[in-house]
Amino acid sequence: MAEPPGGYFGRALVVDLADGRSSVKHLEERVLRSFIGGAGLGAWLMHECCPAGVDPLAPESPLIFVFSPLVGTPLTTSAKFAVVAKSPLTGRLTDALASSHFAISGKLTGHDAIVVHGCCPAPSVLMIDGESVSTIPADDLWGLSAAETETRLRERMGPAWRVAAIGPAGERGVRYATISHDGRHAGRGGLGAVLGSKLCKAVMVKASRKVASADPSAVLGAARELRQRSFGQATAKYRELGTMANLLAFNAISTLPTRNFSAATFEDAQALSAEQVAELRQVARNSCASCSIGCEHLYRSREGKQVRMEYENVFALGPLCGVGDPDFVIAASGRCDELGLDTISTGGTIAWAMECAEQGLIDARWLRFGDGNALLRAIEEIGAREGLGDLLAEGSRFASRMVGQGSEAFAAHVKGLELPGYEPRTLQAMALGLAVNARGADHNRSGAYEADLSGEHDRLRGGEAHVRAAIETEDRAAIMDSLILCKFLRGVFADPLAEWAQLLNKVTGWDADADELATTAQRIVMTKRLFNLREGWTREEDWLPRRFLSESLQMDSGREASLPPERLESMIDGYYQGRGLKRNGLPTPELLDELDLVTLGVDGGQSPVTKGD
Ligand code: SF4
Repeated sequence: MAEPPGGYFGRALVVDLADGRSSVKHLEERVLRSFIGGAGLGAWLMHECCPAGVDPLAPESPLIFVFSPLVGTPLTTSAKFAVVAKSPLTGRLTDALASSHFAISGKLTGHDAIVVHGCCPAPSVLMIDGESVSTIPADDLWGLSAAETETRLRERMGPAWRVAAIGPAGERGVRYATISHDGRHAGRGGLGAVLGSKLCKAVMVKASRKVASADPSAVLGAARELRQRSFGQATAKYRELGTMANLLAFNAISTLPTRNFSAATFEDAQALSAEQVAELRQVARNSCASCSIGCEHLYRSREGKQVRMEYENVFALGPLCGVGDPDFVIAASGRCDELGLDTISTGGTIAWAMECAEQGLIDARWLRFGDGNALLRAIEEIGAREGLGDLLAEGSRFASRMVGQGSEAFAAHVKGLELPGYEPRTLQAMALGLAVNARGADHNRSGAYEADLSGEHDRLRGGEAHVRAAIETEDRAAIMDSLILCKFLRGVFADPLAEWAQLLNKVTGWDADADELATTAQRIVMTKRLFNLREGWTREEDWLPRRFLSESLQMDSGREASLPPERLESMIDGYYQGRGLKRNGLPTPELLDELDLVTLGVDGGQSPVTKGD
């Protein structure tokens, strides 16, 4: 077997939790170069390892931790990994990224990815120390938060171990449960429920190997330079106030989703603003492993706990639920972290339920917009799957199907994934990005809002420029998520694809250029789409909920924002054309050929596939 390129081991560890047996899947250089790592390599591995049509919570459904060639280098923000699975919330591919020492130690077990399938006979913890794979009982950990689990395991087994764990929500199969470590979360799509369905409370990893870059001194030089650039103006917002700085800015331009997307400005935005909350409640600033930006801002709850706050959890648990008291929003956020709940889906599902309750569609008179105590009660019930929480634990799509009575029209999700804090009617490139993304409504895999906010086009009137922006930002995200570099670093690159290619070359020894990475990005986007296609995707899924297409928004500026269905359809047509897809969203044989997908074993059931190690 040929030596793997720099930054890689050329191997994935495959563990069957049913009997603890493991094997190694060799990863050819051609595959590594075609998909890089992180979300890209994860999408390829899902084609290889996930049985078609599998129930995401069945034992055969794999959960994959995927590292990248940059992990372990001194490049700032590179200590990240992807967790990839078929989502129990969407039934489609999901990939969530997170940063921590788990990324470094996980990779230095000697593997580019760890594939976990099967189900433990009883609640257990999976331990991986290099080649050695074992499980230990987790009875005493069941019911604990991820943070408590991590602390106990490291106290018991030693600080060299790094731990990714689920909280009670993952154990109980909440469809938007998270996997957490070092206080960071692989949040979206219900990965915690997948691990919980395997009766696996935590995965522990211990570094035992080293991996060398092709040109270590060039990598060191690039790392020094990148670190210096990371202190500049492009990242100032994240250092100073964090993403919470978006809240007032979004409110001012009518793009702050409020009361389940029935409005786009919030009367109490000032009380939740980063400036005000920081003055009253901020206690510390922190950063992920290997990061020189440090966007993490910690706040003190009324009970004295430290809670990490960012725009997305404040939007989802604040304005979206009509709650304007920062103490309730901080407490709700902290509780989601303890239970292991994705804050966006939690807030989105509760906001839908508040609207249902106010309209008398569900019997929950206690649940009203703006009631912080009701918000906290709903979170507790979801985490315990008790009372109304058992319905809400299914997420807004499944819950609205059960409630019916027209409530599907205001369940704000795409493909089952609840919308992030970007109002699609006032950000119409983003509207397209949300509609077509493989993961569902998501602001990390599509950064089209950047074009809307840049003022380069009319953000209230989607057209061709918006289509181009949606494709370009989706492509850039595909590369950043596969390298993996933090999105908050994106502003420091003047010529992103060319600069990323140079970083990759220094680590791997390849001679990639911007054109190659542009093709790689398309390949990764298409690989995700093809996985979904294999799992039953149809064009109807690339769409937005009815509310956004039938109700207009009156903006403070006096303009009215609306997104007629014909306009969205026309943008989707343009997107398919720009991606080389047929009008029904299916790939042409020429496209599969151009991206080498069939020879790489990826065709979404479009033609015969050859697989093998
Ligand atoms: S910028 Fe923030 S999210 Fe990104 S790596 Fe640094 S601390 Fe983590």
